[in-house]
Amino acid sequence: MLQKFLKEIVTLIAGKPAEEIVDLLDGNKYVNEFILAKKLNLTINQTRNILYKISDQGLVSFIRKKDKRKGWYTYFWKIEIFKSLEFLRNSLMKKMEQINYQIKSRETKEFYVCPNCNIEFSEESALIHNFTCNECGNIVSRKDNMSTIKEYNKELDKFKKELDLIDEELKIEKEKLEKIKTRESKKEEKLNNKEKERKKLERSKKSADKKAASKKSAVKSSTSKTKKSPVKVSKKSAIKKKQK
Ligand SMILES: [Zn+2]
Repeated sequence: MLQKFLKEIVTLIAGKPAEEIVDLLDGNKYVNEFILAKKLNLTINQTRNILYKISDQGLVSFIRKKDKRKGWYTYFWKIEIFKSLEFLRNSLMKKMEQINYQIKSRETKEFYVCPNCNIEFSEESALIHNFTCNECGNIVSRKDNMSTIKEYNKELDKFKKELDLIDEELKIEKEKLEKIKTRESKKEEKLNNKEKERKKLERSKKSADKKAASKKSAVKSSTSKTKKSPVKVSKKSAIKKKQK
């Protein structure tokens, strides 16, 4: 069902011939655009044009890698399944809104139709044209609003079913994304803890080094004092001795 929806989306955006790209794109990993072009039997530019159109809607994403030898970039593409489903959902909602609007207008206004050309006229435009078709001149007849409303409701039911199916797929995708998110945040937490542990170790090592260093200098200063003081004393005492 998901593949069918994704094809529907790509057809909406880039046209029916582009839908084949859905079978080649992946939601989890990036695919080389040259491989896409080869498998689609299209040139790289034709392939990119399709991908750019889908990318404009934010429904595919890419990474690029520079070819060290040739110096150009190769793009790798991934389909954004959740966003794509949301896009399809929105376009379906818009269609349903339009149908609802049509149903309301059928319930309150008269419509006319030419039996020849099957062109429809609102009551106002039928009046302006004197109830004749402005294409063929035939007399227009009043449309059976009830049967039109019935048709619209049938269409609406079909869309509602599709909407439910899209919502199911969206739920599945959401759960997948949440799983990935928790996996990533756990990984990050682990890394953070490791970093904290490392910093802690570093700090305790530093303070240990400091302590050792201060002990050393304490020893040094005390030894230098003991060395200096007898000299001083001896100097002073020497002066004292001289004064005497
Ligand atoms: Zn006509």
